Amino acid sequence: MSISENIEKYKEELPENVKLVAISKTKPNEDLMEAYEAGQRIFGENKIQEMTDKWEELPKDIEWHMVGHVQSNKVKYMAPYVSLIHAVHKMKLLKEINKRAEENERTIDCLLQIKIAEEDSKYGTTAKNARMILESEEYQKMENVRIIGLMGMATFTDDEAQVKSEFQFLQKTFKDFQKDFPELKELSMGMSGDYQIAVECGSTMVRIGSSIFGARNYN
Ligand SMILES: *Cc1c(COP(=O)(O)O)cnc(C)c1O
Repeated sequence: MSISENIEKYKEELPENVKLVAISKTKPNEDLMEAYEAGQRIFGENKIQEMTDKWEELPKDIEWHMVGHVQSNKVKYMAPYVSLIHAVHKMKLLKEINKRAEENERTIDCLLQIKIAEEDSKYGTTAKNARMILESEEYQKMENVRIIGLMGMATFTDDEAQVKSEFQFLQKTFKDFQKDFPELKELSMGMSGDYQIAVECGSTMVRIGSSIFGARNYN
């Protein structure tokens, strides 16, 4: 199927309250434009430089989401335009985002990434530390960042029961947090291989790359 057909398929299939983030990392602008012409407006990237190049060249009504691991020293490059940073895992990064957002007279929305997978290669903080960040006076004084939800990546495995239990843990954490922080609205979980399980577990944002744009070639 073509990129535009894939976008149509997801628009039909996903429940109305679930946003589709089209993960376009490594893909050329023509591919993003095909998705754009099919009505897609939210794109996700995992490298700040690549996202910034695409932002400069593509239509300005695209919402850019940074879904990858963020190094503090690169926040300044995306601060003028980024809509949502999915993978905030520590206070130091949040402080830098707040500072750069203020310089740009913006408020930047963020999600806290919780580590739910077994693999060591996946980033994220604990639910306990995430709660400490939300409760901290330091965060509450920040005027230019807003934590609007949580994000997680399940273990890369065929074991659906394991993926489901990891997503259920994140869903439970999210619901717990919402009791004290009702401003948390978004739960970013689910990728090409596991988005159906994620949606069953209450995801409000799925991040889908290869099953829209095809396999990535990193060479
Ligand atoms: C690449 C990436 C995705 C999309 O992965 P696919 O399996 O291609 O759908 C989702 N989330 C993050 C954080 C990614 O880096």
